[in-house]
Amino acid sequence: MEQGVKERLIQIAGPENYTESLIDIVAYSYDASDNSGRPCAAIWPRNSGQVCEIMRLAWEKNIPVTPRGAGTGLAGSAVPAAGGIVLDMSRMIRILEISIADRLVVLEPGVVYEDLDRALAPYGFFFPPDPASGKVCTIGGNVATNAGGIRCAKYGVTRDYVLGLEVVLADGRLIKTGARCMKSVSGYDLTRLFVGSEGTLGIITEALLKLVAKPAWARTALVHFATLADAGQAVYEANATRYLAQLDAVEAEVKAAIARIPADRRKAITSHDAFGYFVKAYGIEFIAPQGVSTEAEASAKDVGRIIRQIKAEKIPAVFLENVTNPRLVERIAKESGAKVGGQIFSDALSDAAGPAGTYIAMMKHNISQIEKALAAGPA
Ligand SMILES: Cc1cc2nc3c(=O)[nH]c(=O)nc-3n(C[C@H](O)[C@H](O)[C@H](O)COP(=O)(O)OP(=O)(O)OC[C@H]3O[C@@H](n4cnc5c(N)ncnc54)[C@H](O)[C@@H]3O)c2cc1C
Repeated sequence: MEQGVKERLIQIAGPENYTESLIDIVAYSYDASDNSGRPCAAIWPRNSGQVCEIMRLAWEKNIPVTPRGAGTGLAGSAVPAAGGIVLDMSRMIRILEISIADRLVVLEPGVVYEDLDRALAPYGFFFPPDPASGKVCTIGGNVATNAGGIRCAKYGVTRDYVLGLEVVLADGRLIKTGARCMKSVSGYDLTRLFVGSEGTLGIITEALLKLVAKPAWARTALVHFATLADAGQAVYEANATRYLAQLDAVEAEVKAAIARIPADRRKAITSHDAFGYFVKAYGIEFIAPQGVSTEAEASAKDVGRIIRQIKAEKIPAVFLENVTNPRLVERIAKESGAKVGGQIFSDALSDAAGPAGTYIAMMKHNISQIEKALAAGPA
């Protein structure tokens, strides 16, 4: 970095928020994709005023700037392909306002998805997009990638919840888009233009997000099908009911998870005969409709009814995810008329951060549950 520019950047953000140390530069050369590219420096701005000044300077000096949240993006767009500055937004973490009456939250882009979820929980509200990387990814990254996780079949993606944004443009000008109300219909929809723009149109420094009341309850069931086509048919049929179902390609998740385990440990799993069953298992996630009884008994009845609705008689077993109450397991078995194969840990499938030992133990547990149920034959 040119000495004069470096000095000015340190003046703007403070020495503790500027780095060009090799270890940081290497870390900022990657995100969760296979791409790489080294920046000259990285800066952690603390407020939108600093972002404006940094962008103005970069504009004048023609220095590329790449905004970054948690670096979990899979498209490689947080990688500074053209060098220059990485603008790490992860220190702008203030939740500025939670207004339940207006059903919105105003926050800075570095807030981690799960931290927002935790902050909203006491109010009984949530921000639905739920990317699987929610433990670490940031709201700025979610907005910039238009993220959406497993709930999107029911709730939609990030785009459907962004009411407005504060954005610093490439030349350092700050603009505000959208409005604080649910109905705002006039003018160009600039908010939508920025959502999903992967940091190419400006730096998001504040987001105004719509909140949704949490459903009274939600239960998940993992159902085993002989073929992908059967699972697809079940989704199709379940979609025609008032329930929403989403096909979860467990196979792909399992394969990706295996690839992450070191080869010497991987052997222990792949040599397990029952593993083939697991790879063939496809899951269906049922998302409860809002306003249904909060009683666990009623939820068991509902899950059971859905399983029946999707022709439970064809499936050899039902596996319940994270259900520990044996009475509930019994009830679901009774209501569905299907063989309940016991608890499985589907969380482990996508838990890239989990220690490999725990992961393997969970997989073994799951496999033995499936083996046991399949050996016992159809219900
Ligand atoms: C294990 C795993 C599971 C995942 N699951 C999902 C999933 O279920 N659904 C899904 O949609 N994605 C998923 N992803 C991808 C990724 O987590 C999301 O795209 C997430 O929204 C990225 O957030 P981030 O904070 O990590 O952003 P980064 O990766 O840091 O950045 C992503 C993009 O956003 C831009 N950006 C970041 N902050 C700002 C800002 N303040 N202003 C302007 N631009 C900005 C960056 O320049 C880049 O273009 C997953 C990734 C992993 C590794």
